Amino acid sequence: MAAQKTQAIVIRTFPLQEFHKIITFYTPDFGKVKAVAYGIKSPKSRLAGSLELLNYGTLLFQHRENRELQNITDFSLLNGFDAIRSDFTRITYGCYFAELVDSIASEGIANPETFDLLRTTYQFLAQADDIPLLARGFEIKFLDCAGYGPELSRCVHCGVTVKGASLEENSEATNRLGVAFSVRYGGVLCSDCKNRDGAAFTIAHGSCELLKMLRKSEWERFNRIRASSRNHKELKRLLGNFIEYHTERNLKSLKFIENVL
Ligand SMILES: [Zn+2]
Repeated sequence: MAAQKTQAIVIRTFPLQEFHKIITFYTPDFGKVKAVAYGIKSPKSRLAGSLELLNYGTLLFQHRENRELQNITDFSLLNGFDAIRSDFTRITYGCYFAELVDSIASEGIANPETFDLLRTTYQFLAQADDIPLLARGFEIKFLDCAGYGPELSRCVHCGVTVKGASLEENSEATNRLGVAFSVRYGGVLCSDCKNRDGAAFTIAHGSCELLKMLRKSEWERFNRIRASSRNHKELKRLLGNFIEYHTERNLKSLKFIENVL
């Protein structure tokens, strides 16, 4: 048993009997850490209130090899992202991002990039103008961090460069032809190979270019990016299908966003 100290974000909480909770943290050094917070629902608990969903802090825990549940020693809050909590839409999306990170097995695997992505996304979420666009940005960046990022420039079957829309080409005609995207092959297909996957679907060149932009843009630039309703619809479908394929899960919070927001 070894004492460990790491930064952590609470990505899931689950009640255990009357007074305890099972908390899933996402950490840069250990990936997901699942731990029991004993007596947390008792008003006398030192940790009461500090282990709410999305809270970011410094976690001290006793690490036991080959045990599913660890023991929390302490959690000191660094940021509760209060500006998100006061807005129903923002907190709902915040929960979706946490569920998405939880949906991929990562116990014991250090991934500081994913941790930084989640932390900076929560910081930016409070001031994002277009929250669904931020969500698409989070999805593509998360897929990249997890090693599942789609190929957007070269045909995933033959390797030829799939021409993006330059300014002159970004016309109605080019957009009508579009780019074929295969979830199964993991990216774009050229016009010769597009029939290789019967389930491939077409998105506008503009949507494909926008996705490349979301992938590489810092959050500070996001409020300057504009997306049409067609871009929104196509990227939501593309990334949603891609995530479902890799996580093999129906994310509850995503359903909630679709039905309620
Ligand atoms: Zn091809």
